[in-house]
Amino acid sequence: MSDDRKPMIECRDVQKYYGDYHALRGIDLTIREGEFFSLLGPSGCGKTTLLRTIAGFEDISSGAVLIDGRHMEDVPANQRPTNMVFQSYAIFPHLTVAQNVAFGLRRDPRGKAEKAALVEEALGMVGLAGYGGRAAHALSGGQRQRVALARALILKPKVLLLDEPLSALDRKMREQMQVELIKLQRQVGITFVLVTHDQEEALVMSDRIAVMFEGEIAQLDGPEALYARPANRRVADFIGVMNFLPARVIEDLPEGGARVEVAGLGVVDLPARQISRANPDDRAVTVGFRPETMTLIGPGQSHGQARETAATIDEVVYYGDMTYYDLRLDGAARLDGQARTVRISMRNVFGRDVQDVGTRTRLAWSPGSLVLFR
Ligand code: ATP
Repeated sequence: MSDDRKPMIECRDVQKYYGDYHALRGIDLTIREGEFFSLLGPSGCGKTTLLRTIAGFEDISSGAVLIDGRHMEDVPANQRPTNMVFQSYAIFPHLTVAQNVAFGLRRDPRGKAEKAALVEEALGMVGLAGYGGRAAHALSGGQRQRVALARALILKPKVLLLDEPLSALDRKMREQMQVELIKLQRQVGITFVLVTHDQEEALVMSDRIAVMFEGEIAQLDGPEALYARPANRRVADFIGVMNFLPARVIEDLPEGGARVEVAGLGVVDLPARQISRANPDDRAVTVGFRPETMTLIGPGQSHGQARETAATIDEVVYYGDMTYYDLRLDGAARLDGQARTVRISMRNVFGRDVQDVGTRTRLAWSPGSLVLFR
């Protein structure tokens, strides 16, 4: 997406203390109009606190929050152009669906008929047209969350803040609602800011993601860039599965590249774009790769990848559509005397045999899928 859309939310060096506890440590970010933006991180990293400072439910200790170009320091939550959807749906069970949605208009001066039309429009947006007369207590979890969404959207806020809105739903319903939320966001064009600890959810739904650890943004990027080029080992480990092998830099190459010896894989030349240097806490040099970038080949089979490494299958985990193989790499002990296993994943194409534990095999791979963390 082009980045010439106007900034909708700006956080400038936002600091937040709870007593002595430093919950937000200098957050700088700009979220653009119409963007689907996620705050992703483990429990306690400060993502909910950041969302609540945007909503105005929390004061900030220093820094600035602007929404649509306006400083928010003195603007109370109920006067900000934002609305929030919570994990617990906060639906009134004794009211009807329409009454629940109309609750979003309680301070609105419009007349009854006009409000009823707005309620019907909002219900239509979330796929609940015609459900207005139903009792809220009779709805499924997914339907309740839609009612909560309709109520939050009815006043057409500039920003919708979503605090783990899908985490109470079962997996199937959650996946369905993820797709519906994306469609809804595109349809209404409102800026969505989602808080989640679920990396898959963030990857599926977001235009951009801020990954947070301990009150700081570790990386802010689009889903593809986050997955393929994690800024440091911690981000790499948090998002998806990544194998790490110990490595040794043999020499620096022109234009920021490096020649590296990787345990089990041998010597490779990596260009600057495959090197992450933001690892001040990681003194050990490691090389990472995603499980799906490498593949097993049987005897006599050829492949399109540049390199081959001999290995033994240590573990096989069968998932139906996918099999994970843990492989012990020949020669992996050369660097530091320790044997190494790596995990790769292979799609189960019809007719391909699953290989057994103990089988000698060959791993086919390309240097282009490696990331050096130094
Ligand atoms: P979770 O997914 O568990 O909600 P989170 O990333 O959203 O995690 P926050 O809720 O933002 O984390 O909390 C960040 C840190 O601030 C936590 O250590 C939490 O204990 C602390 N904290 C949050 N609210 C308060 C409060 N009102 N008073 C004191 N400490 C708080």
